Amino acid sequence: MADGNRMLELLGVSHVYVNDKGASLAVEELELSVQSGEFVSLVGPSGCGKTTILSMLAGLIPPTRGNVMLGGEAVSGPSTKVGYMLQQDFLFPWRTIRDNAALGLEINGTKSSLSLKKVDGLLADLGLPGSGSRYPHELSGGMRQRVALARTLATEPDVLLLDEPFSALDLHIKLQLEDLVQQTLRKLGKTAVLVTHDLAEAAAMSDRVIVLAANPGRIVAELVVPDDIRAASPMEARRLPGFQSVFDRLWAELDAAEGGLAGDE
Ligand code: ADP
Repeated sequence: MADGNRMLELLGVSHVYVNDKGASLAVEELELSVQSGEFVSLVGPSGCGKTTILSMLAGLIPPTRGNVMLGGEAVSGPSTKVGYMLQQDFLFPWRTIRDNAALGLEINGTKSSLSLKKVDGLLADLGLPGSGSRYPHELSGGMRQRVALARTLATEPDVLLLDEPFSALDLHIKLQLEDLVQQTLRKLGKTAVLVTHDLAEAAAMSDRVIVLAANPGRIVAELVVPDDIRAASPMEARRLPGFQSVFDRLWAELDAAEGGLAGDE
């Protein structure tokens, strides 16, 4: 493990996209450190660089300047230590639930009868016991996202990058899934970075929320969530007396980052 238990670090990171229209500075001089086991959310207006940051953490694009570190080592490409979960579940319709959840193991070459047992165990832990031989079209949106989570966890990554994984779901299912994801990641001691548009979700799920501004993307504020809210499940957190003030502080920071436009969307 890295010094001081730092799992992820952005050290003076900038990224410039270059295409036929020219070069544009997407994110500038980012400094961020995420401890092992910590849950951090990124919030900010569209275009502030959230996807760019996740892509750099995943080793999918290199920083133009600075360093991205994972477990104390510079990231130079995709790693099995990092799992990615997206808004869309990208399950293959012709594969069973078990075979979808085992996709990463297959790609890694670590699929075996033992690892398939683990996949079945994960599916059961995520509330889908005995569903391994079913197909994606038989499942609801929330169930499909749980399969996507099982697929991400099956390869045992240390870090989960969550790119709006709940935003396509109905509110009721979304709240249930927030609880399940937080509980599961805590139990397994995973480090997580969540990108979300939903400030209440960020406040309810995270240890720390990072607020970004755009043009160029940069970190403008950081809010450490109070202990009692962190200790509660996301559903319970929303009912705690201090929750509204965390939400209001995030709203104010985001409003400032957007130049007073928060809520116009
Ligand atoms: P967010 O996820 O917060 O909406 P992005 O990381 O997608 O922000 O984008 C950050 C900035 O980089 C934006 O100004 C966006 O237009 C620009 N950008 C993103 N991807 C590309 C690309 N492939 N080529 C050129 N510019 C890009």
